Amino acid sequence: MTSAMTPVTGTVHLLPQTRQLRALHTVIRDRNVGREDFVTSSGRIIRQLLEAGLDLLPFDSCEVLTPVGRTYHGLRPAPGICGVSVARAGESMESELRAILPGVRIGKILIQRDKVTKLPHLYYSALPADIDRRHVLLLDPMLATGGTALAAIDVLLDRGVEEDNIVFINLLSAPEGIDAVRARHPDLRIVTSAIEERLNENAYMLPGIGDFGDRYFGTDIVR
Ligand code: URA
Repeated sequence: MTSAMTPVTGTVHLLPQTRQLRALHTVIRDRNVGREDFVTSSGRIIRQLLEAGLDLLPFDSCEVLTPVGRTYHGLRPAPGICGVSVARAGESMESELRAILPGVRIGKILIQRDKVTKLPHLYYSALPADIDRRHVLLLDPMLATGGTALAAIDVLLDRGVEEDNIVFINLLSAPEGIDAVRARHPDLRIVTSAIEERLNENAYMLPGIGDFGDRYFGTDIVR
């Protein structure tokens, strides 16, 4: 394990709880914070999560010549990484991934809970044709009950992606959601920046953040 993250279990990696990270969480959890600050601070956390997730993927050795004529024995991310965002909240992670890996391929999955059956329903997916040969960063900032995550993971597995080639990038997680994903997919890695106490009766996390998508995209603003 080369990562500085805390592996809560073998497959669940919690970002180091630095004061800087807690300061960013303080901004995004504040019910009175404005949207610009919410977007900026969550973007900074997402960047940390993505960097940590990339650190779990394979690297190739390489050498470069430094400006003073010496060889640096370095590493390059192995080719074949892609992102897959779970709409809508996961789309908040796309620009940060592109900023780190310009040109990265990004697929999309839209899953919504059926109003009658309450079960997650797949409405749309668009994924790289060769996704079965790729390492996938699955992007969804909220892991609450785990229902949507499990449905999204099923889409990837149905397309031939190996479970241990998926790293789930997640900003806020509930123990219930982590347990649900681990029970079905013991080899799938999760990178998160916070593990909450529990879910409330409406499946919101506590102490939580409210509806991430509404706050990030401004659809909760009434005037
Ligand atoms: N989705 C959210 O946006 N927030 C939660 O607390 C749970 C699910």
